[in-house]
Amino acid sequence: MRAKIIGANWKMNMEYPAGVALFSDMIDMIRTEVTGIQQTVVCCPFIHLHALAQLAAGHAAISVGAENCHEAESGAFTGEISAGMIRSTGADYVILGHSERRKYAGETSALVCQKTKIALSHGLKPILCIGETKDERAANLQIGVLKRQLNESVFPLDIDSFSKLVIAYEPIWAIGTGQTASAAQAQEVHWFIRQEIAARYGQETANDTTLLYGGSCKPVNAKELFSQVDIDGGLIGGASLNAREFVDIVKVYN
Ligand code: PEP
Repeated sequence: MRAKIIGANWKMNMEYPAGVALFSDMIDMIRTEVTGIQQTVVCCPFIHLHALAQLAAGHAAISVGAENCHEAESGAFTGEISAGMIRSTGADYVILGHSERRKYAGETSALVCQKTKIALSHGLKPILCIGETKDERAANLQIGVLKRQLNESVFPLDIDSFSKLVIAYEPIWAIGTGQTASAAQAQEVHWFIRQEIAARYGQETANDTTLLYGGSCKPVNAKELFSQVDIDGGLIGGASLNAREFVDIVKVYN
């Protein structure tokens, strides 16, 4: 059975003490309130990784991840952080290909694929994001856009590598806008993604792949979204900056 995952994406928020306090609150609430078997993965700025990984140690259902990594092994890349450095903090996951990085840092799908390979080589599990813009959705182009993103950022991987990925469908028009995709819209896309994975890697691999939905997910809409057959959890931005809201989303699987 594929894993259910609720991921947090803090983005560029939380100074160090506030981040540690937020994560500590989340752990306390998860320990006392969560009874489901889902994995919680808190992806945070690099400065928090080591402290959060230490707090998460001993809590098998809680993991920590980064929000990006560099595509090179090491070297003269001032200001960058490598996959090996992330792994050395105790983090297990890394978000790659988030639409904000594709937009503001000019990351292409080919670059995302390179980053995925190096992350995997260091034992990190990538949460690989794909999604269409508002204009692409308005023109009903989403399926073609997602197909291209999958072909270029994911499908060059061999089956062993692919089987370690989590895929997140994050329609860009839903991120941080309060305009969530309807459960039917999200399910339709998740079903399509699973079909594409089956065509590339086989049905068994497709059935085992965790597919997350991201985009203005809140306690009030999470239950309906996560109950769709091809939606295996969520990637949560804004609502993950509040322990109560985030843990209420995690508790959807109780
Ligand atoms: C995200 O940026 O990954 C995200 C899902 O953000 P939000 O929940 O705020 O829409």
